Amino acid sequence: MSNEFQGRVAIVTGAGVGLGRSHALGLAERGAKVVVNDLGVSTDGSGSGSDAARAVVAEIREKGGHAIANGADVTSREDTQAMVEEAIAEFGHIDILVNNAGILRDKTFTKMDLDDFWKVVDVHLMGSVNCTKAVWSHMNAREYGRIVMTTSASGLYGNFGQSNYGAAKAGVVGLMNVLAQEGAKKNIRVNTLAPTAATRMTEDLLPEQVLALLKPETITPGLLALVTEDAPTKMILGAGGGCFAETRITETRGVALADDEINLEGVLAAMDRIRDPEGATEMANAFTQTQKYVGLAAELRGIV
Ligand code: NAD
Repeated sequence: MSNEFQGRVAIVTGAGVGLGRSHALGLAERGAKVVVNDLGVSTDGSGSGSDAARAVVAEIREKGGHAIANGADVTSREDTQAMVEEAIAEFGHIDILVNNAGILRDKTFTKMDLDDFWKVVDVHLMGSVNCTKAVWSHMNAREYGRIVMTTSASGLYGNFGQSNYGAAKAGVVGLMNVLAQEGAKKNIRVNTLAPTAATRMTEDLLPEQVLALLKPETITPGLLALVTEDAPTKMILGAGGGCFAETRITETRGVALADDEINLEGVLAAMDRIRDPEGATEMANAFTQTQKYVGLAAELRGIV
């Protein structure tokens, strides 16, 4: 096995169990020194203080690797800043951040308590913001950084009963889209993993035969590919059961309407062409979309 991450230091949040644990072990196995963060809470975010992170650290050290446990709550700016300072004090620098910590508080939107909505957004979205902000200037100064957000099919495609989770998981994709651009010049690459795994989050939802296929270890190689030196940036990688796929956000070619068609009737009449997926493309950034519309509108009017 190659020592791909020799000399690299990684922080993995929520790494006491499930996917985070598997990612931490996978990074350590290939030479990274790992900060194993975990608040040790239950799936709904209640309780705290399990020994899970320390157990993962023990497992890494038994195999000859280097790791420290950290109990920061990712929703706390102070905790996450202190975690980064501790990592630098212990290992000298930070190269990789895997934002993985998460909780669930599922309910239909009708029955959703807004405190439960906020808590889930706080852990997934603000937790990723806090940890990323805490490493950002350090990575900028070193001109090296590999950051991964963890989204979900729920955020990308929707899932009944998960408005809080879906909103938070779509939010981290928006965060990636911007940070991939802001980090590019300083060799900071930002990607997003969309896993589907057998963990305590899903163990009651899926039959045993399916769970057996979806072990976290079948996803971690995808995570590793998003944080190598040659990693892509702004990629959304789906992973589960050893299957990998890329999610892309595309826009249809679009339709420019004449001045007398810019009304409800005009949009409805053009709807089939507006939605025609033939020739859909990705936008490099927000301004690319503006340029496209200005180009189409100007072309129709013979301006360019
Ligand atoms: P898990 O419940 O097994 O592990 C989550 C870990 O996060 C736990 O150890 C928990 O203590 C920790 N955590 C929760 N809140 C925290 C906080 N505030 N600060 C620090 N640590 C905290 O879940 P998992 O299935 O391994 O999920 C890992 C990530 O993958 C999550 O972001 C989850 O939303 C995402 N995900 C999982 C699946 C799946 O199928 N399991 C699918 C899509 C996305």
